[in-house]
Amino acid sequence: INCPLYCQARGVGIMVWFYLTKDFHKDTFLFENLQFPHVFPKDQELFFFNDVSPGSCFFLPKGAHIYNTLTDFIKSEYRRRGFNEVVTPTLYKTALWERSGHWEHYSENMFTVSGDTDTYALKPMNCPAHCLMFEQRLRSWRELPLRWADFGALHRNELSGALGGLTRVRRFCQDDAHIFCTPEQLEDEILACLDFVRSVYRVFGFSFHCLLSTRPTPSLGEPKLWDHAEKQLERSLEQFGERWELNPGDGAFYGPKIDIQIRDAIGRQHQCATIQLDFQLPIRFDLQYVGEDEKTHRPVMVHRAVLGSLERMIAILAESFGGKWPLWLSPAQVMVIPVGVSCESYAVQVVHQFREAGFMTELDEGVGATLNKKIRSAQLAQYNYIFVVGVKECVSGTVSIRTRGGNQLGQRDTEEVLASLKHLRDTRSNMEDF
Ligand SMILES: [Zn+2]
Repeated sequence: INCPLYCQARGVGIMVWFYLTKDFHKDTFLFENLQFPHVFPKDQELFFFNDVSPGSCFFLPKGAHIYNTLTDFIKSEYRRRGFNEVVTPTLYKTALWERSGHWEHYSENMFTVSGDTDTYALKPMNCPAHCLMFEQRLRSWRELPLRWADFGALHRNELSGALGGLTRVRRFCQDDAHIFCTPEQLEDEILACLDFVRSVYRVFGFSFHCLLSTRPTPSLGEPKLWDHAEKQLERSLEQFGERWELNPGDGAFYGPKIDIQIRDAIGRQHQCATIQLDFQLPIRFDLQYVGEDEKTHRPVMVHRAVLGSLERMIAILAESFGGKWPLWLSPAQVMVIPVGVSCESYAVQVVHQFREAGFMTELDEGVGATLNKKIRSAQLAQYNYIFVVGVKECVSGTVSIRTRGGNQLGQRDTEEVLASLKHLRDTRSNMEDF
């Protein structure tokens, strides 16, 4: 099934790169739904769109590398922070969506599929599946809080006129998670979510502030329940200690929420992370746990995402870094340039050494171009580091390093360089020199 799509996509993709590398202006694109953010790295071959699947992105290997590195980053945080990953279906009978309320309020945004006897819909969010998992057996207070994360692909039927590059798509993944907890655990859980957001955004160099959105009209649920939950969120925000504002009446109809506004490196504001309380889904699914008092109780449900949509976050990061990805996220980390035929086998050995350690490493095999030209084109392609290896380096087991910014770091022992780059990558440092 993938093959014809791939071939067709490749044809259009190559045309797109041709136009991009020819530096055509954005307006001259033949493909309406192909919009790039302003300073999107043009020659990096990260992704493209094709009309055979409007609003669904094709990530090329380098784009997929960024995608997966972001996911791995969040997964490593999950392990530290007591989240467990789950995997859930994409397609559900409409009965589920009727039960969750999506069919009534959201069905025009959902893609439906006819089966032999039933109608199905592609999931636009993971929450109902996680509710099914909660009710799959009797739960005890001892198990709570349950923190379930899901990177499942989501589909939303955005109007084709509303689609725009990676920022508005029909198919996307979120670093989505749901927390089921007791009302008493809520304050600590919200505080932990806020701390999660802060530690991730620090790595990206984003500053942020929080908005507490309270009860809208109309809303569902007891006003007393709302007041109590809003007070709890307020206390978590106070304890968190970052700047926050009240955003009265802007909560979801099913519960209050905290939205996190980020400011990126070029001063733009975005809203990606969200922490939302939900009083309604636990009622709709009649979720219960057995408390310490041996009676049944209703859990509180929290929807939360830190990156939000991976697709949109990649667009924001690309703009924020201006295409100069920090080493840990970069799809082009090391370029090795041999000087002369006698050094080629050593250059290949260095490439293998760095690939083995997980670095995106390439060998410059170009013939004819001068060394300066090779270095320049590797810098333009945003390779974080360029290793030049000649006879001197070959006999001493070293590499001569330049950064993409043009700094010459000199001739260094290859093993030591490998250790330094591993350290920079594993600490997700934004430093270039070492
Ligand atoms: Zn949710």
